[in-house]
Amino acid sequence: MSDNGTVTLTIDGQEVTVPAGVNLIEAAQQVGSEVPHYCYHPRLEVAGNCRVCLVEVEGWGKLQIGCNTMAADGMVVNTANERVNEAREWIMELLLVNHPLDCTICDQAGECKLQEYAVDHGSGVTEFDFEKAKKPKNISWGDKVVFDSERCILCTRCVRFLDEIAGTDEVSIDKRGEKSTLIVKGDGKLTSPYQMNIIDLCPVGALTSRDFRFKSRLWFMRFADTVCTSCARGCNVVAGSRNERLLRMVPVSYTHLRAHETQEVI
Ligand code: SF4
Repeated sequence: MSDNGTVTLTIDGQEVTVPAGVNLIEAAQQVGSEVPHYCYHPRLEVAGNCRVCLVEVEGWGKLQIGCNTMAADGMVVNTANERVNEAREWIMELLLVNHPLDCTICDQAGECKLQEYAVDHGSGVTEFDFEKAKKPKNISWGDKVVFDSERCILCTRCVRFLDEIAGTDEVSIDKRGEKSTLIVKGDGKLTSPYQMNIIDLCPVGALTSRDFRFKSRLWFMRFADTVCTSCARGCNVVAGSRNERLLRMVPVSYTHLRAHETQEVI
């Protein structure tokens, strides 16, 4: 590490200098390489459970997860060579092994990281020919959030958000193996005033808004950057409308997932 607290490494053939303590997902972004990830979120503790952010660090033997591997001086990292790509295909196959083929009715379709990574990093086929595990659908977590267990990839983003950010620690993983599912502790209903943030954090369609559920396919909607008027803070949000009717408001950070570009400012 240099005196100014930076480290210099090579990623995909390009030398880059980043602050010490930055992980390989963030460092790779500096050279324009996107390392796919589900469970990693820069504001949450690292969980390292989805494994899709595997990268190769030359001389390290096994592939490493980019979220929990910190950039270091002299590292030579490959984020998308043949070895990494083959490993990611396997990871995508495992993540989808029990996932239902219900994109045609899923509200997340069009802005789902499972869809996007399946196309970008999946093989398109599966070697598993047994029946998918069936898990409950349409579970009410209160008057705002609906949980579809069979779509959940157990990335624990929602679990960590409610524990680390909201401070209510309301959701945990129950059971093991293919029977693993999320439960809300106590009476099964969320109480946090921040509970709808987990819908936006969920990278797949497992958590949906009761208010927006089944209202419209995304590709029929128009989106516009605007400011929330619900309180004096004035958070930046993205409004989604169809046929001149406002259907949903989501945090502006959600924009990297949405399918359509902002068309106008309202
Ligand atoms: Fe992750 Fe969504 Fe499942 Fe929560 S519900 S663990 S955010 S996939």
